[in-house]
Amino acid sequence: MSKAICFEQFGGPEVLKWMDVEVPEPGPGEVRIRHKAVGVNFVDVYQRSGLYKMPLPAIAGNEGAGVVEAVGEGVTLFQPGDRVAYAGTSGGGYCESRVIKADRLCLLPDAVSFEQAAGMMLKGLTVQYLVRRTYRVQAGETVVFHAAAGGVGTIACQWLRALGAKVIGTAGSAEKCELARQHGADYCINYRTENILERVKEITGGEGAAVVYDSVGKDTFETSLKCLRPRGLMVSFGNASGPVPPVDLLLLSQLGSLYLTRTGLATYIAKRSELEEASAELFDMVTSGKVKIEVNRSFPLKDAAQAHRELEARQTTGSTILIPD
Ligand code: NDP
Repeated sequence: MSKAICFEQFGGPEVLKWMDVEVPEPGPGEVRIRHKAVGVNFVDVYQRSGLYKMPLPAIAGNEGAGVVEAVGEGVTLFQPGDRVAYAGTSGGGYCESRVIKADRLCLLPDAVSFEQAAGMMLKGLTVQYLVRRTYRVQAGETVVFHAAAGGVGTIACQWLRALGAKVIGTAGSAEKCELARQHGADYCINYRTENILERVKEITGGEGAAVVYDSVGKDTFETSLKCLRPRGLMVSFGNASGPVPPVDLLLLSQLGSLYLTRTGLATYIAKRSELEEASAELFDMVTSGKVKIEVNRSFPLKDAAQAHRELEARQTTGSTILIPD
């Protein structure tokens, strides 16, 4: 048995319940792990609220780090005692112990703690694909990154600085903007007091950015398109303020033959080889000190609902994790 945070219906944080669940023996190709730390991500909120549908009842959570306890038939990649971590988007993470497919796990370097791993696997692999594969950011290019003080945002600012990009972050308070600047944003626009478009035009001498990474969604989508230079790329990858309504394609032409993509991590780590390459690059960025993982909030696993309340109320910065007893 394992304690787990489950939900039987979609809704607010109150649907998250602390329950006992059965943990089976690992089948062929599977591994049972004991979590030491679990990551909290905005995707957990979308799944809990029902914006992203999943079969119910469900165990919340999509990211964890821990120790291998048992391996199923045919598993050669891992053995009991290995320190491992994973990121995925099909739930099952907020628990003490779980069974998972071995080919979804990564071996943790000694220099990466369980807490760091739980704060960076999903967010860091996301930044890896965004800045290295969705668009290969080059030194000197101007990039706009929204929610720059958040979990994904603080990792992105540091990674983009390491690539030599000119980073314009956005965030919802002066303190958050300061945090984004400390993590490598050259500029940070406080979107409660400043006009994003005017500031981006001013900073870029009227040209606009090469790429905009937008996880805020509904509230920023159209402004983000307008912040782009002609033939720039809009990467929509989240809906923190709500989903983006249907898009009029003509707008892309009117604003300068823009490119638009809506991405998801699962497609970028679908193959084992992609997961291995992306996680190796992420671990390298972290162990070399180019990217520091800011775990700014930590809750007991049973208090996951409170973690969700704070994340949704925009009270968190950097990464938030849950610790099993
Ligand atoms: P964050 O720590 O960045 O928290 C979300 C932030 O979004 C808030 O802190 C807030 O920052 C900002 N925000 C803007 N509008 C709202 C709103 N109406 N309600 C709540 N927050 C708002 O979360 P994560 O690091 O976990 O994720 C960041 C984003 O990246 C999420 O949208 C997530 O879904 C997305 N994502 C997408 C992935 C993909 O592959 N597609 C994978 C991983 C994450 P502020 O106060 O500064 O505005």
